[in-house]
Amino acid sequence: FPEQIDQWILSTCGYCAVGCRLYLGIRNSQIVSVRGDKNSPVNKGRLCLKGRYQWKALTVERATVPMVRRNGEMVKVSWDEALDIVIEKMREVLLNEGPEGLAIYSSGLLPLEEQYAIGKLARGYIGTPNLDANTRLCMSSTVSGFIRSFGQDGPPGCYEDLDIADFLLLFGCNPAEMHPNLWFRIFRNKERRGAYLITVDPRATVTARQSNAHLAILPGSNVAFLKGLTHILIREKWIDEGFIAEHTEGFDKLAESVQECTPEVTSQKTGLSTIEIMDCAKRFAQSAAVTTIFAQGVNQSNQSTEVVNLICNLHLITGKIGKTGSTPLSLTGQVGAMSNREVGGGGSLVGYRRWDNPEHRKEVAQLWNIPVERLPQFSKSILQIFKDIELGKVKLFWNIATNPAVSLPHQEWTRKQLDKVFCIVQDVYYPMETGTYADVFLPAAQWGEKTGTFTNSERRVSLARKALDPPGDAKTDLWIIQEIAKRLGFDDGFNWSGPEAVFEEWKRLSRGCPVNMSGMNYQRLESEQGIQWPCPDLSHPGTSRLYEDGVFPRKSGRALLWAIEEESLDCPEHLRNPESRVKYPFILNTGRIREQFHSRTKTKRIAELNLLSSEGFAEISERDAIKLEIRSGDWVRIITENGWIRVRAKVTSDIAQGSIFVPFHFGDLDPKERHLKQAANHLTSFRVDPISMQPRYKLEYCRVEKD
Ligand code: SF4
Repeated sequence: FPEQIDQWILSTCGYCAVGCRLYLGIRNSQIVSVRGDKNSPVNKGRLCLKGRYQWKALTVERATVPMVRRNGEMVKVSWDEALDIVIEKMREVLLNEGPEGLAIYSSGLLPLEEQYAIGKLARGYIGTPNLDANTRLCMSSTVSGFIRSFGQDGPPGCYEDLDIADFLLLFGCNPAEMHPNLWFRIFRNKERRGAYLITVDPRATVTARQSNAHLAILPGSNVAFLKGLTHILIREKWIDEGFIAEHTEGFDKLAESVQECTPEVTSQKTGLSTIEIMDCAKRFAQSAAVTTIFAQGVNQSNQSTEVVNLICNLHLITGKIGKTGSTPLSLTGQVGAMSNREVGGGGSLVGYRRWDNPEHRKEVAQLWNIPVERLPQFSKSILQIFKDIELGKVKLFWNIATNPAVSLPHQEWTRKQLDKVFCIVQDVYYPMETGTYADVFLPAAQWGEKTGTFTNSERRVSLARKALDPPGDAKTDLWIIQEIAKRLGFDDGFNWSGPEAVFEEWKRLSRGCPVNMSGMNYQRLESEQGIQWPCPDLSHPGTSRLYEDGVFPRKSGRALLWAIEEESLDCPEHLRNPESRVKYPFILNTGRIREQFHSRTKTKRIAELNLLSSEGFAEISERDAIKLEIRSGDWVRIITENGWIRVRAKVTSDIAQGSIFVPFHFGDLDPKERHLKQAANHLTSFRVDPISMQPRYKLEYCRVEKD
């Protein structure tokens, strides 16, 4: 009933980095509705299932009062009491252990301004290398892959490419369920323009079923498949020799590295037919405009950074980059994950600067007005931070807007480490899984209750306005960070009047960087429906595509073609040990489902979504199910060398024989409830890509037992 709404407030969806624009409907100071923004160039009024119901996450029971642990129980206290304890503990750790005794783990769900503030406090003022974010789990391999191939991070193309590509290679992604509003554009391109879609995925996902062709690749064979395509392109001379000569380096080495990767060899390694492989290569070469879309099937696989390099190679040797409709496009998971990359909230130094560049370090120190020596020399990943907890080096862990007690791998080990540290948990909801490890809990405002900017997967920065006050005593993450910084004695650097002042400061750090946002301000972002960086001045309209001039930001100005050696498909431990292969004969793949988001802190509180999926499950093929006498709905145990879970079986033809799929969203808040031990990350291990340090969630070995 739109006539019953007092006010519609323009915002950006708080879930994924498609970055759909929407209005929040307010009546009597309460949120009662959302509707898509028809003027948005991103979603043109459409919202997916999660987007449509997310306003309800603002109406359910929330954490409203700070709490501290006393005699094992969490008790409610005032903000002053809670912050006094936080500051006392931080001072003690800094005094006894130095900056390395303290770690901060934040989130790609926060707006740019809050992530910038966290980075400034951690790196510039506390001086700790122990800052990471949950973006490490979803896209750090794309970051390292783009830096290695192009010389810098940043998506080269834009969403318009999805509308006009003639051939779309969907590699290890399922946008029909995970990024539905982009899928709408892809599918419309197929239906209206006749674009050809090939999905490469071990599972027959909705995306795969609606594509022109589904290549059901064997798990762990991404490198073999991409090297096979490269072999064919070079052998058949389906390459752009002019582009290679002018804009790339490393071609001879690349050609040599794929000499043996014939269609026959590739077929053996990937389980695909030579006809499928040849057809894919031919379409890639002979279509005028080609976009490769990828997500966690690439980023969370083995050799994930190198897989990104191989995708970039395909576009570079065919000259299909920096042109309309032609780009590699990584689909990002969280609304603020791209912002995290920009402000250095995770692994990078602020503004895509490099840790090892003395000039970059000097610039940052000057702009922050701190001695350059205070900046750490490097940044640690969450795995390294947890290893340092195990070694007793990290004593205090400040967890902001993320839920590692569900989302990190190898939960048995991870949870043990959380038990060892003084744990500050800052979140929107309580109880939540990581909250059970809290010594201090700080209640935070969430999406809709604060103003800030988010960058989506096509580099478009948009503004999300506050529509409501946070409930009770909950405060914005920015307020909490500022308050802690000031109480630590860092008043000068954190005296912002609000998020807009933070954005203005960040703009000064972005000037001259690849992520230049100097020409943006809140007014422009709102009136122009977001702007794509780089945008160097107020009259600049923003940039749709990078590398249109064929110049890449490496010393030579050329992109680097990477020659990749293929590693074993299996983890070496498993290969070495034949007994282990007998014990764990199935390949386990973990992933996402349409109705849930991450560890469900938000979506499990929304009845409409939970009606559709409220429990974990394990997909098993029909043949395997017959062998094990398992029927859909039976309880089964999935067991790996790391742990076990108990879920219901879902017998399906969507999965290959010998494979198991388990969604990762489901935590097990109450460990006493046996049937709730469903967190898929009890099964996974902390095996990471050695370049990006991103965990390999997509390949584990398991066995299945009927319970
Ligand atoms: Fe929100 Fe992503 Fe759905 Fe758009 S596609 S409405 S950004 S969850």
